[in-house]
Amino acid sequence: MTRNLRPDLTALGDLVDSAVTENARVAVVGAGALGSNVVVELVSAGVACGSAGKLVVIDPEPVSDRNVGRTAFTVDDIGDDKVAALGRHVHQINSAVRFHGVCARMDAGDRAAMAQLADKVDLLALLCDDFDLQAAFNEVAYQRTVILGGGVARGADSAALFFSAPRQTACGNCVFRPLARRTAERANALGCDVRFVAALAACVALGLLHAGTPAERFYRHLIDPRRNLLLVGLRREGIFAEMEYARCVVPVASRVSGVAGPVCSVCRMGFV
Ligand SMILES: [Zn+2]
Repeated sequence: MTRNLRPDLTALGDLVDSAVTENARVAVVGAGALGSNVVVELVSAGVACGSAGKLVVIDPEPVSDRNVGRTAFTVDDIGDDKVAALGRHVHQINSAVRFHGVCARMDAGDRAAMAQLADKVDLLALLCDDFDLQAAFNEVAYQRTVILGGGVARGADSAALFFSAPRQTACGNCVFRPLARRTAERANALGCDVRFVAALAACVALGLLHAGTPAERFYRHLIDPRRNLLLVGLRREGIFAEMEYARCVVPVASRVSGVAGPVCSVCRMGFV
């Protein structure tokens, strides 16, 4: 018996423009708790299964038993490279996805490699634990493509997502760097918390991919170029609680603007 391994994406109706999602070119740096779940969400929405589509996932590590539960991986994946295991899961959802796994650690000093990657994609998702790499990517790639970044804080009480679009928003470093110190210690987010943040991140990604199309209306509330940081409070006493603008409780995300300061050398926004 031949099984049709492709989902019926018409079930998504006009929530997405299938020409946009299927032919989207997306790169995800980091296949950990957030990255792996975001990939699953994007593929489930039909991303990168068209002839021009591409889904590149970059991660240097194998799946360990500590990963299972919070990530998209299962016990069968333990010991395999994350990108290889994720490729299998992706193709179990949709065999047509043009998935390209790269088992390598990106070097924050290799600006040429970062630029090359950014030039090839419509959306670059920075979902790795390495804040130096995220910061370097933001500098190199801001002018080249749309960026979505984020991380879950230690204890999973909070998460932050940001996006940037060339010349339309402040860059990720403007909005994210002040938070990086707070979120630098990170581990052990509960699976359900991570999946909530990943679903939100995927919605933002879909919104960014649909900017300027009729399907944008479903995501327009997420795409405000003047407010390109989302703080997600998963606990009332989260690490952002002392911040005036982060009175967010489950499951609400609040958006804030870039911090005021001198004009940024990357985005030259002067911060909105
Ligand atoms: Zn900036």
